[in-house]
Amino acid sequence: MAKQGDERRKVRPATAMVHGGTARSGFGETSEAMFLTQGFVYETSEAAEARFKGEEPGFVYSRYSNPTTRMFEERMMALEGAEDARGTASGMAAVAAALQCQVKAGDHIVASRAMFGSCRYVIETVLGRAGVASTIIDGRNLDEWRAAIRPETKVCFFETPANPTLEIVDIAAVAEIAHAAGARVVVDNVFATPMFQKPLQLGADVVVYSATKHIDGQGRCLGGIVLSSKDWIDEFFHDYHRHTGPSLSPFNAWTLLKGLETLPLRVAQQTRTAARIADLLAESGKVAKVLYPGRADHPDAAIAKKQMTGGSTLIALELKGGKEAAFRFSNALQIILISNNLGDAKSLITHPATTTHKNLSPEARAELGIGDGLLRLSLGLEDADDLGEDIEAALAAV
Ligand SMILES: *Cc1c(COP(=O)(O)O)cnc(C)c1O
Repeated sequence: MAKQGDERRKVRPATAMVHGGTARSGFGETSEAMFLTQGFVYETSEAAEARFKGEEPGFVYSRYSNPTTRMFEERMMALEGAEDARGTASGMAAVAAALQCQVKAGDHIVASRAMFGSCRYVIETVLGRAGVASTIIDGRNLDEWRAAIRPETKVCFFETPANPTLEIVDIAAVAEIAHAAGARVVVDNVFATPMFQKPLQLGADVVVYSATKHIDGQGRCLGGIVLSSKDWIDEFFHDYHRHTGPSLSPFNAWTLLKGLETLPLRVAQQTRTAARIADLLAESGKVAKVLYPGRADHPDAAIAKKQMTGGSTLIALELKGGKEAAFRFSNALQIILISNNLGDAKSLITHPATTTHKNLSPEARAELGIGDGLLRLSLGLEDADDLGEDIEAALAAV
């Protein structure tokens, strides 16, 4: 294999996202090769034996590892500053595996209530059935973490900024509380993206992504990844991942590798647009509330500033007039599309109360700040002036 891009010298993120992890075959291809193979062959039985014993490096089966998947993992490790990683078939496969691999019946998980609905199902229903107890708290309140953690607590889990209200949890503070009690911290870093927040450097033990979102960023495929120290992967994740099979397909890994090449550019541009649109919405006088981590009026602006190096590509906005106003506004948009996805090149708007968070009771939604007038707006790569005009016209129609 030709020399790897990231071995030349220590490089900055934009360079690492173009060259990091690249392993060229003997053909010397420019672009990363897509290794669509289930298995691998060996010259001799002795070579197969050595490979299986781990005495000789190399791939044995694509459920375990694959050259294209490994390139994606290594490029993500370079960006995250992680010692090791495993790609997964989806973001939920990453969350479920990262939690399940390190708990057993009798253990306990503490999680912040503002999270993706499926994460809550994994913690309360799937792990609950397996005898793992959980306590769901307001993750912004450090006293609630202190009160909820008990001797059998193994994992603290949260998302920050959280879906869909963009609430922020103090990663370093929760990590300190968790570690003092012998628990590990798993952070779902989808909303911040690896460009703006490095949970491992702030004290988290494991970081998970839905690569479906900004990492692909062009609406093409599902994917996920779990990143951590080599010790954690070896102790908890390596065997779990091999034997339960949530593996990332090489085809999707290749798509995600190509996504990483443009991730820094896309996230920077989408964030510039989001900051402009957040100001436009706040100044319109027609919106009850605008929540954007890059704005000084965000309730957790101080923590956002401390742990994030950029705002977000997402905005939460509350329209006066509840569901009717939210629907009328969304329906009046001509460029921004109605969709429950996010992080895409296309700007997307979601009404959480009737879609992503419809399974929660109205009381639970109220507790999370998900009113009937709340909308989540994911800014894409369109011209910001066009998006601004689209929004102004739709506001006028409400
Ligand atoms: C989308 C999402 C997930 C799940 O990812 P999939 O790739 O759809 O399985 C998990 N966490 C957050 C915060 C998400 O936005």
